[in-house]
Amino acid sequence: SLTGTDLHLSFGKNHVLRGIDINVDAGTTTTVIGPSGSGKSTLLRVLNRLHEPDRGDILLDGRSVLRDNPDELRRRIGMVFQHFNLFPHMSVADNVALGPHKLRGLGKQEAHDRAIRELDVVGLAAKADVRPTNLSGGQQQRVAIARALAMDPQVMFFDEATSALDPELVKGILALMADLATQGMTMVVVTHEMAFARNVADNVMFMDHGEVVETGAPEQMFTDAKSDRLRSFLSQVI
Ligand code: ATP
Ligand code: MG
Repeated sequence: SLTGTDLHLSFGKNHVLRGIDINVDAGTTTTVIGPSGSGKSTLLRVLNRLHEPDRGDILLDGRSVLRDNPDELRRRIGMVFQHFNLFPHMSVADNVALGPHKLRGLGKQEAHDRAIRELDVVGLAAKADVRPTNLSGGQQQRVAIARALAMDPQVMFFDEATSALDPELVKGILALMADLATQGMTMVVVTHEMAFARNVADNVMFMDHGEVVETGAPEQMFTDAKSDRLRSFLSQVI
């Protein structure tokens, strides 16, 4: 499980995270929804220690990680962003094998084998030898997901993973993410895709102004919101 307790972060005078509590049990998916600027991306970056929280704690399987080297945690959390940031001069397979080879110490052949396996999971084994620039946006995002999976992460974070894609490619990526969730991957998914947030999540978290305003099971959140702020947000986005 991944837990954040009372997480605070300010950028100068901007108090962006105002005491966030989050708990993601192993094998479950939490979707994070909320207006632009509410702190969703910042929360993911604090949870994998790209930013250090000003206050609060982060626990992996019940143990605080804040005293460890931040790289330790980042290796255990797979990140998938809006922009895939693949290396254009390397083949698809080499992009995926790089982390396992450099950061996990796998031999070149072993890392390559793992890359092919993960590319197969995302339906792209046939593209192993091409350059990412020769792929569609949806295919590039699949490679980015394979790259994260190849590190054998304990938790996967997705931040607007489909926002930069052409509309016809969005469904395929969401279906792949739903498959990962069904297969028991532990996931935190920041998304504007409300159908995904509702249908795939075990838990939904609604953030506004750096706070968790409401959290709960998807059906309850989407059909019987307790707070005016969530009701009003949903009425604008659905
Ligand atoms: P969106 O839905 O538009 O992606 P978000 O919920 O992900 O929004 P964040 O990107 O987390 O929102 O931003 C929350 C607040 O933190 C905003 O006011 C933003 O300007 C500020 N912020 C985020 N990153 C930084 C940074 N590196 N330096 C300074 N301020 C930042
Ligand atoms: Mg964001």
